[in-house]
Amino acid sequence: MLPSINEIVMSSSRRLFFALSLPDALQQPVIRWRAEAFQPEHGRPVAAANLHLTLAFLGDVSAQKEAALTQLAGRIRQPGFSITLDDLGHWPRPGVVWLGCKRAPRGLLQLADMLRSQAARSGCFQSPLPFHPHITLLRAATRPIALPPSTPGWVMPATQFSLYQSVFEHGRTRYQPLAHWPLK
Ligand code: ATP
Ligand code: MG
Repeated sequence: MLPSINEIVMSSSRRLFFALSLPDALQQPVIRWRAEAFQPEHGRPVAAANLHLTLAFLGDVSAQKEAALTQLAGRIRQPGFSITLDDLGHWPRPGVVWLGCKRAPRGLLQLADMLRSQAARSGCFQSPLPFHPHITLLRAATRPIALPPSTPGWVMPATQFSLYQSVFEHGRTRYQPLAHWPLK
């Protein structure tokens, strides 16, 4: 039987997002601290390699739109910046415990804003909620949690941003990097 138009479109579209990955040097310190600060019943820890800060979520994107968005991202010229990870929060509805920053650097806001407007102009739905930069630490965290009063305040350098494909297979989500662009 021939595939339907819908199947053809779905097979060539990928679930994509732009993000900053947590640098390798910070992965172990963060997950060690997380293991001390939280108990298994608080939620499911995100794998070290999956720790990231989403800049713009694109959703399911056709190959054509992916090519256009990749080209636009490649034209962004911005210097790097550093994010002080000194904030922590819990959103019980989506069940997320996150690490963030009390003051987002201007470069981070500009970059996210640019990627989100390019995405919106290309027809990718963008949430009307304000951008809240965060790194998800725990998922399925729906019960009340007493959060630690502070974080170690790691400084996360952002020297590049990336396009990722979100792949769900064998019951797990992993992020496949597709492209990186320097911030300099
Ligand atoms: P899961 O398979 O459990 O959904 P995930 O949420 O990590 O895992 P995706 O849903 O593909 O994987 O999301 C990839 C990234 O985009 C995550 O950082 C997620 O928080 C973010 N994201 C997902 N949906 C949206 C959305 N509608 N608006 C903004 N960001 C989103
Ligand atoms: Mg999700």
